Amino acid sequence: MSNYVKDLIADVKAKNPAQPEFHQAVEEVAESIAIVLDRHPEYRAAKVLERIIEPERVITFRVSWVDDQGEVNINRGYRIEMNSAIGPYKGGLRFHPSVNLGILKFLAFEQVFKNSLTTLPMGGGKGGSDFDPKGKSDLKIMRFCQAFMSELFRHIGPNTDVPAGDIGVGGREIGYLFGQYKKLRNEFTGVLTGKGLNWGGSLIRPEATGYGSVYFAAEMLASKGKTLDRKICLVSGSGNVAQYTVEKINQLGGRVVTLSDSNGYIYDEEGINQEKLAFIMDIKNVRRGRIKEYTDKYKYAVYTPFDSKLDYNPLWNHKADCAFPSATQNEINGKDAQNLLRNGVTVVSEGANMPTTIEGVKIFLDAKILYGPGKAANAGGVAVSGLEMTQNSMRLPWSREEVDNRLRMIMKDIHSTCVQMADRFGTPGNYVNGANIGGFLKVADAMIDQGVV
Ligand code: NDP
Repeated sequence: MSNYVKDLIADVKAKNPAQPEFHQAVEEVAESIAIVLDRHPEYRAAKVLERIIEPERVITFRVSWVDDQGEVNINRGYRIEMNSAIGPYKGGLRFHPSVNLGILKFLAFEQVFKNSLTTLPMGGGKGGSDFDPKGKSDLKIMRFCQAFMSELFRHIGPNTDVPAGDIGVGGREIGYLFGQYKKLRNEFTGVLTGKGLNWGGSLIRPEATGYGSVYFAAEMLASKGKTLDRKICLVSGSGNVAQYTVEKINQLGGRVVTLSDSNGYIYDEEGINQEKLAFIMDIKNVRRGRIKEYTDKYKYAVYTPFDSKLDYNPLWNHKADCAFPSATQNEINGKDAQNLLRNGVTVVSEGANMPTTIEGVKIFLDAKILYGPGKAANAGGVAVSGLEMTQNSMRLPWSREEVDNRLRMIMKDIHSTCVQMADRFGTPGNYVNGANIGGFLKVADAMIDQGVV
C-alpha cells in the first residue's frame, strides 16, 4: 500500500470512527485509484478522491409511527447524498435492523462508481432505516413507509435525488412510498424507481440486477471462449437479486444448487429449475416465509441452518464452477474464498454489494479467477432504474425486449470498460481495478470541470 493510500485511509478512519464497512469500501477504491493519481497529478491537486469520500450531504431523521396495535414506534431514517457530479443522486433504500450510517455511506460511495460505469447520467446516493420489515403486516409496512416518506419527501425529487429499492424494499414498499410522496407534493413524477408497471415502472426492472449479474458473468466467460452452459452455480440470498439470478442462469443452461436466507441455506443437487424457482418466489414474495420451507416440498434437498460458531459459510463449500453472492455485504470471507477455489470455482459475479471481504478479494485476485466486483456486476439494477427515469421523462414505456437489449448492451459496455481500464493501468484481468478506475475517471473529470464546489 502506498503512503498516499495509507495516509488517506488513516484520515478516513479518524474522521469516520466506527464505520468499518465504509473504511473497507474506501480502502479498496483508493488502492485501485493510486496509480491513476500518480499518472494524473491534476486529480490529486484538485483533491478529487478526498472530495468523493466526503458525502455532499447526510440527512438523518426520526421516523415515528403508530402500529396496528396502537403502539408508538421510533426508527431512524437516513439519506446519504454522496455525489452529484454527473447527475441527480441515485441509489436504493435499505430497510434492515443492521442499517447504520457506516453501512449506508459504504453503499452510497460504491454507488457513485457503479452509476458512472453504467454510462447513464446518475450521481450516487443511498438511504434507508433500521426498521425491520420481516414478519410485519402490510398495514404496519404501509404506516412505516408513510412516516418515512413524510420526512424524506422534502429532500428528494426527479431532478435532485431518485431513490429505489434494496434489501427489505421491494415493489410493495416502493408503492407505499410513492403514494405518500404523491400525496404530499401533489404531483406525479418519476421520483422513485422500481415502480409498478401500470404507474410508471419499467419492464425488466425487477429482473435487472440478477439478470445483469449473470450477463456480466457470461461476458467474463466469453472473454475466455466459454459459456455458462452446464456450469454448476452457487447462489446466496433468496430475495430479488438471487431470484432473477437463478432465472437467468437457468435460461443460459447453468444449474443452480444453493439459495439462502439469514436463517440458513438449501442445497439441491438436481438444480433449482423454473418450477422450483416459482415455489421459492411464492414462499418469499407472497407468503413471506423462510427458505427452509423449500425442503417441505422437495424432500431430497438439504437444509443447513446458519451456525454463528462457524468461521466460514458452508454454502460456499460445495463443488461448483461459479458463485453469485446475492445476499449482503461481507458474506464471503478469506476462508470462504479459499473453499470456493478448492471446490473448483473460477467465476465469481457479485450480485450483492461488497459481499467479499478485503482478504477474500485478494485471494480471488491472486488466483486470477474471473472475479466481477459488485459495482460492475450488479450495476444492471441501477442501469434499468436509469432507463425507467428516461421512460418517465418521455412519458413512453419501452417493450420488454427493448429494455432487456439495452441492459445487455450496458453490461457488455461495463465489462469492456473494466477490461480496457485494467489493461491501460497495467493490471490486465483485474476487474476490481478496471471497475474502480472506469467509474472514477468520469466522475473526476466532471468534478474538475465544475470547479471546487
Ligand atoms: P432482498 O431484501 O430482496 O433479499 C435479501 C436476501 O439476502 C434475503 O434472502 C435475505 O434473507 C438475505 N440477507 C439479507 N441480509 C442478510 C444477512 N445479514 N445475513 C444473511 N442473509 C441476509 O434484497 P435484494 O435481493 O434487493 O438485495 C441483495 C443484495 O443485492 C444487497 O447487497 C443489495 O445491496 C444488492 N443489490 C440490490 C439491487 C436491487 O436492485 N435490488 C441492486 C444492486 C445491488 P432474510 O430474508 O432472512 O433477511
